[in-house]
Amino acid sequence: MSEPRSTEAHSIFQDTIANMTFPDLAKAAADRAVVLWGLGVIEQHGPHLPLGTDVYMPSELLRRVRKILASKGVASVIMPPFYWGVNQVSGLFPGSFMVRPEVMIELMVDLIKSLKKDSFSTLFCVSGHGDALHNRTIFDGVCRGADESGLSAHFVGAPSFFKRIGIDPASPRVLPTMTEVERNSKYFDVHAGEFETSSMWAVYPDLVKDELLPTLKSTDFGIEDLTEWRKGGEHALRKTPQGYLGDPAASSRELGERMMAEHAEIVAEAIAAKVAAVV
Ligand SMILES: [Zn+2]
Repeated sequence: MSEPRSTEAHSIFQDTIANMTFPDLAKAAADRAVVLWGLGVIEQHGPHLPLGTDVYMPSELLRRVRKILASKGVASVIMPPFYWGVNQVSGLFPGSFMVRPEVMIELMVDLIKSLKKDSFSTLFCVSGHGDALHNRTIFDGVCRGADESGLSAHFVGAPSFFKRIGIDPASPRVLPTMTEVERNSKYFDVHAGEFETSSMWAVYPDLVKDELLPTLKSTDFGIEDLTEWRKGGEHALRKTPQGYLGDPAASSRELGERMMAEHAEIVAEAIAAKVAAVV
């Protein structure tokens, strides 16, 4: 269990290259460090979680992945997280910023070219946000960035995730994980529900309004409700007026810590295996 952190520890620059000097960064590139990059959004996450949840989560995940990789002898650096992503589903809620996919792709391409300019050769991206269009956009950015820069770039995720968003896990730009974090719930729990709230609560307890949790009723959604919600815009507003889809009241910090630790192991395992296969 992580101890509650100081406000400073919420910096999304923590442990990223933004806190390094340029000679240190150049040395990391010369030492063949791989680059880790989380891509999230600023988006509403119910009345109990902050708008930056999908940025905080991949940031913490990658800090843990970096440590595990180091223990396996794989050097890595972390890019500052990307946070102006695509909000198709919950874009109409206050606090959900809407960026066009083409804008995100162009920015990703320029940043990937910058990494190549700095002599990095390998990039692994993870997503912090479930929106299908956001994730297809990451994939497009990874593909174009890799093609135009010559840098080897990969989008890391579970095979079931790539299947849901319509991307072939066999693509050379995709790095499917070997296993995935098991999430068992009676009803769908996909946004600011039990799973996401548990993880935020474990890592950033002072950013969670946990006093509200007992008052938040489970949405009890089946597949038809989920499909309707995923149409986004007015549909999502109507289906989930409180913003969350799932059961935040069922959250626990223990579950969140367990899922975060497991997820980090799974992602690090896939990256380490890929690096070993290339060298
Ligand atoms: Zn989220």
